[in-house]
Amino acid sequence: MNVTRRKSPSKKQRALEVLARLKNLYPDATCSLNYSTPLQLLVATILSAQCTDERVNKVTPALFKRFPDAASLANADLAALENLVRSTGFYRNKAKNIQGACRMIVSEFDSVVPNTMEQLLQLPGVARKTGNVVLAHAYGTNAGVTVDTHVKRLSQRLGLTKFTDPIRIEKDLMELLPQPDWENWSIRLIYHGRAVCKARSPLCQACGLSDLCPTGKKTLGAEEAIQNISKIDGESV
Ligand code: SF4
Repeated sequence: MNVTRRKSPSKKQRALEVLARLKNLYPDATCSLNYSTPLQLLVATILSAQCTDERVNKVTPALFKRFPDAASLANADLAALENLVRSTGFYRNKAKNIQGACRMIVSEFDSVVPNTMEQLLQLPGVARKTGNVVLAHAYGTNAGVTVDTHVKRLSQRLGLTKFTDPIRIEKDLMELLPQPDWENWSIRLIYHGRAVCKARSPLCQACGLSDLCPTGKKTLGAEEAIQNISKIDGESV
């Protein structure tokens, strides 16, 4: 009956304040994957599953030198492709999906990476996370909120979602945040997850969001979580 009440104004305000702080904390945050075409971004994003962007960026120069576009990847020798992406983990699956996606891009989309979520989701190995990254960074479209492992963890710790399923987390975040900020939310949250709100032990004392975060308040105590903010340089409360 009162499902809509779950997204209370206070939660929304808190999300907007977190967003504003993240913009201050990471003003230059951008996609960490190296690419020069939408196709290369798509491939790099597929490779980034269960792998760091840093590792992917070590692999892609040789990969893109040998197979620079959809046609060359579609016709690549699968074993050669697997070898080139081996160090990113799950390489057999990733190579198979990259080749399958490129074959479909060549045959169904005139060798151009599609620019709608609906079409992107037809490609092997592409779920909403990859679709959101490609649409936002290759085509400037905020179709949704990218939910990777950092966004999932931090959104939960910040009390902005109680779900574990990325699709439901994305839906919660889309309702809390303005559409133009959907992708920059994810990018900045990923930066914060890597630098401060680490998976095993979040550095709540060094966190510029502690007064807005239920987990930080629990860890530090409510008062300290608020005082903590004034100790952190460059932060406006
Ligand atoms: S206060 Fe702690 S749990 Fe909350 S966002 Fe910051 S580091 Fe993460």
